[in-house]
Order: sequence, then C-alpha cells, then structure tokens
Amino acid sequence: MHEMGICDGILTAAVQAATSAGASRISRIEVSIGELTEVMDDALRFAFDALRRGTMAEEAVLAVNYLEARSQCTECGSEFRHDRFDPKCPECGSYVITLVQGRELRIDAIDAE
Ligand SMILES: [Zn+2]
Repeated sequence: MHEMGICDGILTAAVQAATSAGASRISRIEVSIGELTEVMDDALRFAFDALRRGTMAEEAVLAVNYLEARSQCTECGSEFRHDRFDPKCPECGSYVITLVQGRELRIDAIDAE
C-alpha cells in the first residue's frame, strides 16, 4: 500500500519542520494531493492513524485537498480535465499534451505549537 510510504514522508517532513520551529506538538497538517498519485483517501487516513502514534503529531488532524488531473494541449492550447486512462485533448483529439496538475504531493501548512 503506497499510502503508508506517502504518509510516512508527510509525517517526517511535518515533524522536522515543527521541530526546527521549536514546536512540541502538531495540531493540523494540510496537504495537496494530485489524483494521478492514485492515493486512496481511506488508505491514507488509515496510514495516518497508524503512523502518527507516538509522534508529536499524535493528535493532529490531516486535511487533504485533492487536485484533479489537468493538462494543456500542445497542438491547440486548450486546457482540460481528464482521468489517467484518457489523456487526450477533447478539442482536437491530440495526445500531445503537457500535464498542468495532478501529480502534486505537497504540504501546504502545518499548525504546530
Ligand atoms: Zn487540442
């Protein structure tokens, strides 16, 4: 389950940031996750519950902002939403596209004290 690894990375980064800011407790972690990372919300929350135990984020809330996959067509320039199975321009049918959004995996904010 790759959510474990992702969650471990989020927690490690959050604890490091909070520690270097002189905090001893994390109350909230806000992240943005692109849908092409194929993270399942249930699995992510399960992983977070398991991994936060015994850390300074033990009581932290995990707020997740899921970002849809969007690409821009290199041929006609239109921007569109798509899933991972059909990355094709709806305007001109081209497959020559550039991903604009969808592979994000980042921490937006950490509330620590
Ligand atoms: Zn196009």
